[in-house]
Amino acid sequence: MSKFEMYQQMGICKEVYEYGKKILERLKERFENIDAAAEYNQLKVIHAMQKNHVNATNFMATTGYGYNDEGRDNLERVYADCFHTEAALVRPQITCGTHALAVALSANLRPGDELLSPVGRPYDTLEEVIGIRESIGSLKEYGVIYRQVDLLEDDSFDYDAIKKAINEKTKLVTIQRSKGYQTRETFSVKKIGELIKFIKEIKPDVICMVDNCYGEFVERIEPSDVGADMIVGSLIKNPGGGLAPIGGYICGTKECVKRCSYRLSAPGLGQEVGANLGIIQSMYQGFFLAPTVVSGALKGAIFAANIYESLGFKVVPNSTESRHDIIQAVELGSAERMVAFCKGIQAAAPVDSYVVPEPWAMPGYDSEVIMAAGAFIQGSSIELSADGPIREPYAVYFQGGLTWYHAKLGILMSLQKLYEEKLVDLGGIE
Ligand SMILES: *Cc1c(COP(=O)(O)O)cnc(C)c1O
Repeated sequence: MSKFEMYQQMGICKEVYEYGKKILERLKERFENIDAAAEYNQLKVIHAMQKNHVNATNFMATTGYGYNDEGRDNLERVYADCFHTEAALVRPQITCGTHALAVALSANLRPGDELLSPVGRPYDTLEEVIGIRESIGSLKEYGVIYRQVDLLEDDSFDYDAIKKAINEKTKLVTIQRSKGYQTRETFSVKKIGELIKFIKEIKPDVICMVDNCYGEFVERIEPSDVGADMIVGSLIKNPGGGLAPIGGYICGTKECVKRCSYRLSAPGLGQEVGANLGIIQSMYQGFFLAPTVVSGALKGAIFAANIYESLGFKVVPNSTESRHDIIQAVELGSAERMVAFCKGIQAAAPVDSYVVPEPWAMPGYDSEVIMAAGAFIQGSSIELSADGPIREPYAVYFQGGLTWYHAKLGILMSLQKLYEEKLVDLGGIE
C-alpha cells in the first residue's frame, strides 16, 4: 500500500491529502528549526541525567512515607539542573497544574502580602485560587491582596502602571507565559526576562513566579534562565512527555521551593515524605522524551495554522510567527465548523476514536463547550486534544500530539470532516 492509500484507509480523501501535502512543502525550514531546538533540549535533559548518575535503582517503587526515596530526590535534582535552578519539587502528589500553582502561591504569601499579576487576568482556574472568584480557602480568605495590571492594547506590558502597582507589600509577582484561553500572544522567554528585570529593579526582593504551563522545551531557554525565582507546571503537559501519569513541578530558589514543600506536605516534613508508588520511571522517561514530544506538538500547531490560515480563517499564532507555547487557536466562525473540527480530532485518536464529541453545558462556563480528546492519560493535553466554548468567535484551541504523525493525521481528519460537510472550500491555495 502507498502512503496515500494508508491515509485513504483512515478516511482521508485525495483532495484533503493533496491540500495538506502542498502546505507541508513550505514548512520544511520551520520544521528544521524545531528539530534543532529539540536536539538542543534533548542534550540538556541527558546532561542533567548523566550529571546526577541516574540509574536503575532510581526507578524502584516506594510506599508509605517514602522516606529515603532516592529516585524521587534524584529526579528533583535532574529537573533543577535541567532548568538551572537551585532546587525543585517534582511530585505525583501535586495533582495538576492548578495545584502546583496554588502550592507555590500559598507557600510564599502571608496575610497582608500583595500578589501582583502584571500581565492581566490569570488562567481561569487560578481565579478561585486567588479569590478573584470567591472560593473556600482562596488566598483572599487568608488575607492576601490581589492586584492586576492589564496589558496595553498591543499586548505590551504597561510599565508605568506596573511601577505604580508595586509597593512595600508586594511580595510575589505572577507571570503567565502562555495565553491560555485568552487572545493575547504568548510571551517569549526573552520578553518575560525583560519584565522580570524591570520589576527587580524596582523591588529586588520580590518573588517572580512564572506559570510555565505549555511552554517547557518550546525554546532553548526557560524563564528560570532569565531571572524567575520559581517556574511552575504540570506533568500531564509538556515535561511529562506523555508518560507521566500525574504530577506537577516547581523549580526555583532553595528558599521558595522549601516553602512549597512545607506547604505541600506539612510544616517540618517538607520534601522528606512522599512515596512515588511505582510511577517514578515514567516521570524520568517522560522527561527524557519531552523535548521530542514537544517538537511534534509544535509541528502540528504550525501545520494547523498554515492549513487553516490558507483557507481564510484567523489563526493565533498566525502561520509564520515564532512559537512560545504549543497551543493553536483557530477561529472557525461557526458552531458547525467547531463541531466538525473536533469530530476530526476525535476520529484520529488512538483511544476512543469511535466516540463522537458533542457540545455540552460544562459547569462554570456561560456557553456550551465542545471537547475532543482520545488520550491514554485522562485530560492530558500534551496528547492531541481540542476544545472551545461555542460562542463568538467560535475558536477551537488545539494542542498536543505525542508524535508529529498523529498530530498530522488529526489535522487532516479535522479538515476531512469540514470538507465532507461542505464547510470549507479547498479550491484555491494561495
Ligand atoms: C493548564 C494550565 C493551567 C492549569 O493546569 P491544570 O493542570 O489544568 O490544573 C494553568 N495555567 C496555564 C497557563 C495552563 O495552560
